[in-house]
Amino acid sequence: MITFDVISLFPGMFGGPLEDGILARARRAGRVSVRLHDLRRWGIGKHRQVDDTPFGGGGGMVLRPEPFYEAVESVRERFPVENDKVVLLCPRGRQLDYDVVTDLSRTERIILLCGRYEGVDERVREGLVDSELSIGDFVLTGGELPAMVVIDAVSRFIPGVLGQESAAERDSFSGEGLDFPQYTRPGTYRGMDVPEVLRSGDHGAIERWRDERAREATRARRPDLLAGN
Ligand code: SAM
Repeated sequence: MITFDVISLFPGMFGGPLEDGILARARRAGRVSVRLHDLRRWGIGKHRQVDDTPFGGGGGMVLRPEPFYEAVESVRERFPVENDKVVLLCPRGRQLDYDVVTDLSRTERIILLCGRYEGVDERVREGLVDSELSIGDFVLTGGELPAMVVIDAVSRFIPGVLGQESAAERDSFSGEGLDFPQYTRPGTYRGMDVPEVLRSGDHGAIERWRDERAREATRARRPDLLAGN
């Protein structure tokens, strides 16, 4: 069981991904819990202000530190756990990869902070977060989609979430590279045949074929993943 507490200005964005498919089933089964918290609840003053203009000038708005600090303190007070991590979604953070995802999956609770506008006041990074994570070298309008990516990727490693217990450990990036090619019915489609070996019933030959194709794909597409690089 893992819990995600998400702090966001737009908690409504999470509806779809959490209400369909494997994540919805995992939540119903009590293996994954996601609580959504509207940052504005900790906004300042009558207008519940959460942002302000940047010191030093320049366009856009920056999210103030106080609402984030108070939101995390409130979550910790109301839902105490023994070990948790506060993660800020940020293009300047470490890029999400297999190691980060498996490491996070061993945490009891992850508090995800979603930025918006020009980003988040630097003092949130300095005094509140354990890590900053990026989902790639591009900039999105907010941290909500990256937070969903983290929830989805981490949940796959929680026991019982995937039908097959070991599926996440066999996918691309789990060992030394990419996954092997997959085929299903029909046996022939528009002149393209399923490789004979996959229909042979010879499990040893199938394993060897899959290993070889996985190595081939990794060498061709992601040689950086191979040992010795
Ligand atoms: N000024 C920031 C910069 O250039 O690094 C970009 C801010 S972005 C428009 C607003 C928010 O979206 C960020 O605070 C972050 O929470 C989220 N975000 C955007 N791109 C992201 C990425 N690649 N990975 C993780 N979070 C991202």
